[in-house]
Amino acid sequence: MFSCRSGAAHSLRGAAFALALASLCGASPLSAREMPESGTAAATRKPNVVILATGGTIAGAGADAANSATYTAAKVPVDKLIAAVPQISTIANVRGEQVFQIASESFTDAQLVQLGKRVSQLLKQDDVDGVVVTHGTDTLEETAFFLDLVVKSDKPIVVVGSMRPGTAISADGALNLLDAVTVAGSKEAIGKGVTVTMNDTIQSGRDVTKRTNVVPSAFFSQWGPLGMVIEGKTYFFRSLSKRHNSSSEFDIDQIDSLPLVGIVYGSGNMIPGVYDAEVQAGAKAIVNAGTGNGSVAGYLVDKLKDIRSKGTLIIRSSRVPDGLVLRNAEQPDDTYDWVVANDLNPAKAKILAAVALTKTSDTKELQRIFWEY
Ligand code: ASP
Repeated sequence: MFSCRSGAAHSLRGAAFALALASLCGASPLSAREMPESGTAAATRKPNVVILATGGTIAGAGADAANSATYTAAKVPVDKLIAAVPQISTIANVRGEQVFQIASESFTDAQLVQLGKRVSQLLKQDDVDGVVVTHGTDTLEETAFFLDLVVKSDKPIVVVGSMRPGTAISADGALNLLDAVTVAGSKEAIGKGVTVTMNDTIQSGRDVTKRTNVVPSAFFSQWGPLGMVIEGKTYFFRSLSKRHNSSSEFDIDQIDSLPLVGIVYGSGNMIPGVYDAEVQAGAKAIVNAGTGNGSVAGYLVDKLKDIRSKGTLIIRSSRVPDGLVLRNAEQPDDTYDWVVANDLNPAKAKILAAVALTKTSDTKELQRIFWEY
């Protein structure tokens, strides 16, 4: 049994318990500044990493250590998150900023833009080597892709979450955060695009998606991870071949808002009026999360053609988790003036469509963008 005088927070495994311990003992967990520096770390310049906290399960707290899935997200402030992982101080000089304190399903486009501007601003500073964004896992893949598209910097940006709150047995947030700081401070991550460190792996923010909703191994990329992060060291094996960050034509400094883009989920026996509702609500584009190869039901084709002819863009994606939607397969996209989302899932296609629409609504241009990013 832990006592309030126990040194459990000094060990990596113990770090996950530090928050729970602190609240039980009515005291703050051991601060990173109180940890002694190792001789090796002190001898070399440590990178400066800023942690931007937005909430999510990584900042969540449950009533009991057995609560791995029942808890409240977005409770623990950034300074406590950092203090709960004292090992961070051996890897980087970190400071935290609380940007939001929300569950990520509540993210709005306005918040996405605000976060993107802050990341961009920080990375322009000479005294910042990398940025970590702590985030809920539900829409982490959208934010990671958004930052990948619009922040014009080669410095590492790492988005990180956890599947279990810090109060749970075998909480995953402490190690995920340590890994995120490792990647954000590493020279190897420069130019690799926005990455996501979950479960010891380094994933591309462009490719990664949340594939299951209850286990720590929840994040998956159909094209494979970029590498791994183990005991404070990165191991990269792949690079992202799509345009991103400094090679992107989009720049958050030029974006103040995003146009509305809707998603309609495909199934048997669709309700056609859903498309009309999206248009009436102001959607500039509708991502059709079609069945199979982004298929559109025969009884919906005229509706979608009509919507397109009145100005709203139709982007064919698929509800199937993997694969890609081919142009002019299943539907004559050239004839109907529709766009295909390539391998982007509907949520990511929505992000790219919104970003692209800040520059153009020309469908040839949009299709080029969907091939290149
Ligand atoms: N609903 C939570 C969120 O996205 C789930 C999580 O963080 O894992 O904020």
